[in-house]
Amino acid sequence: MATEKLMLNFSPKIVKKPIVYRIVKDFDLEFNILRAEITSDLEGKMLLEIKGSKEKIKECKKYLLKEGVELREAAKGIILDKEECINCGICISLCLGKAFYLKEDTYEVNFDKNKCILCGLCLNCCPVNAIKSKI
Ligand code: SF4
Ligand code: SF4
Repeated sequence: MATEKLMLNFSPKIVKKPIVYRIVKDFDLEFNILRAEITSDLEGKMLLEIKGSKEKIKECKKYLLKEGVELREAAKGIILDKEECINCGICISLCLGKAFYLKEDTYEVNFDKNKCILCGLCLNCCPVNAIKSKI
């Protein structure tokens, strides 16, 4: 039995399709929705943990891509490099888990790893590359 944590992005065109239902029905996978939201521009984001045989997970990923779902593996762990950070706040606005926050007394951006759900949305958003992923 294999387990994978995946970040799924649904464009407004496909956000109402019963795609997750088909994962259970057609691929015999166990799944756990760790986080899901629909953004203001009607894009769906879902952090999904799936369990099952490696072969079925592979088939399921193929199906998701065919349906137009953007797919990527969830991050392994996030590190904020305080030395590099310029406190611009970009990461705060897109963090799904609200793990990045502004410290009110110092106006510095901080990171609470206990709130991070490893969705990976913050990777590549930082203008000075202060957000890193553990390998
Ligand atoms: S995006 Fe980068 S520089 Fe801006 S607050 Fe976040 S970590 Fe700091
Ligand atoms: S991976 Fe990044 S965006 Fe996602 S919850 Fe963790 S800190 Fe926030």
